[in-house]
Amino acid sequence: MSVRKQVLTVAAASASYWIGDGFPSRTLFPLGEVHDFSPFLVVGYVGPAKFEPSKRPRGVGGHPHRGFETVTIVYQGSVDHKDSAGHSGTIDTGDVQWMTAASGLVHEEMHGKELTAKGGDFEIVQLWVNLPAAHKMSKPRYQGILKAHIPRVELGLGSYGRVIAGELNGVKGVAETFTPVNVFDIRLDAAGIAEVTLPAGHNAAIALLRGGIVVNGSTRLEGSPHIAHLGTSGESLLLEAKDESLVLVLSGEPLNEPVVSHGPFVMNTEAEIRRAFEDFQAGKMGHVS
Ligand code: MN
Repeated sequence: MSVRKQVLTVAAASASYWIGDGFPSRTLFPLGEVHDFSPFLVVGYVGPAKFEPSKRPRGVGGHPHRGFETVTIVYQGSVDHKDSAGHSGTIDTGDVQWMTAASGLVHEEMHGKELTAKGGDFEIVQLWVNLPAAHKMSKPRYQGILKAHIPRVELGLGSYGRVIAGELNGVKGVAETFTPVNVFDIRLDAAGIAEVTLPAGHNAAIALLRGGIVVNGSTRLEGSPHIAHLGTSGESLLLEAKDESLVLVLSGEPLNEPVVSHGPFVMNTEAEIRRAFEDFQAGKMGHVS
């Protein structure tokens, strides 16, 4: 049997706060004692929340990003997206949007048309994944990943994983990434058991979104969304569900580069941050029409 990854810290998600008028959000990272989870910069959990029908779409209007990628995983409902690099579309339940802001863009993130018109449940995760210095000023890129294209792997009795990025138990995911990153959407039945392999050397974490699980036979996560950060050594995890559970497993090779972050911009130096504000204000990141 391979060596289990050690659980270093466990933290409950932050209290809920609003982003725009459509995203009731809780932060899973950055949070608590863990300050570095490179290449992940943010793990945000929106909902689950029920919205009433609305005449006008709720969400977040035009805002910029530079220096990293946003990854939006839709569990319930849908998101309409439009950006200044010319990409637009609807991310439906089960789909994933992997957006590389890189040199910079302006985008808007709104509830999908059906969710807006009819109301309904909304639940998403948004990750911010840092880019290595060499790619921070690359051209923006957009990967709209449909549910049907995300491979599914059985992980044990009553459990499976969807491989959004990286490789899970020998099955490769679909997202193209700039550095090695694993993003696994794992679902467990009430008594489900999942065996997950992860590379040694990666920063890694388990985010429990719904339900309750025991990690490696000893650490219990339950009652509300939690995140467990793991040690870099070891290469496997055992997840045992105590309830029907929704789990996100993340890992990535640390970038080991300086991080200077200000609002929607994440660069390597203060001068690059000042430049990002100047470029945005001068309209160089474009506009959404
Ligand atoms: Mn955004």
